[in-house]
Amino acid sequence: MHYQSILESVAADVAPMVGGGRVANYIPALACIPIQQFGIALHTVDGQQAWAGDARTPFSIQSVSKVLGLTLALQALGNTLWERIGREPSGNAFNSLLQLENEQGKPRNPFINAGALCVADRLVSAHIQPAQAFADLGLRLHGKPFVFDDEVARSERETGFRNAALINFIKSFKQIDNDVETVLDLYCRQCAIVSDCVQLARSFSYLANAGVQPGTGETILSSEQARRVNSVMLTCGTYDAAGEFAFKVGLPCKSGVGGAIVAVVPGQMVLCAWSPGLDETGNSMAARRALELFVTRTGLSVF
Ligand code: GLN
Repeated sequence: MHYQSILESVAADVAPMVGGGRVANYIPALACIPIQQFGIALHTVDGQQAWAGDARTPFSIQSVSKVLGLTLALQALGNTLWERIGREPSGNAFNSLLQLENEQGKPRNPFINAGALCVADRLVSAHIQPAQAFADLGLRLHGKPFVFDDEVARSERETGFRNAALINFIKSFKQIDNDVETVLDLYCRQCAIVSDCVQLARSFSYLANAGVQPGTGETILSSEQARRVNSVMLTCGTYDAAGEFAFKVGLPCKSGVGGAIVAVVPGQMVLCAWSPGLDETGNSMAARRALELFVTRTGLSVF
């Protein structure tokens, strides 16, 4: 298949949608991102790359970092991670407090904010320098450390009252071991990692390749762990739009309010589409449509 021309046609077809939706202005440092941008890239397990549009423009990966956090936590803790975090879709907004009280502070899954905060807490316990562990993971996934946008991290740290509420509430159930401020610092830093479509498609290739990073042959996760991360991405990676994504895209996906969506075609490739305009569920409108068009044109889907 000629992926380059497929991505170019997808980019051309979504162009009229680019600029629709709203940027994530609840994080002040993201409120001024120009909305008229769109990029898409793919990286196959045998090393082919293709990209179109603004695929080399850096953006804030936000919740896409929850896949990196989950990967680091599975490396450090294995299955004991699941003692404190579930793997059921929440059917609620990514930053919802609703289910936590009924469920005694055990978040539904690692991709809602409550779950990602618990993962961050485990990483604070497991690593002397947990932010450095995220940076170093970049070295193993694409040959360079991940970099953080300190301004975005600070901006979210100063205004993230809901995340502060979530973690304090979870701690009241004794499900957070560390100081909440330390965990919030890490969470905001990981969300503020800067990347682009080309780099992210390459970085997440291990998820399409049974846990082994194709370029280097390094085992990042066991094949069972990689399969499970993909499962949780499919059912929970796009929050309360996960059913609609499974219906229309049919791939494990993880979105972030920076406008990126990473999608895995197991055994074949990873895609990353990005455009800052979000719908009401916090998923990029143009990136979502682009993935749908790609799947329709190529027939690549897990279903
Ligand atoms: N940093 C963002 C937050 O906590 C991440 C949310 C997202 O990308 N969905 O609100």
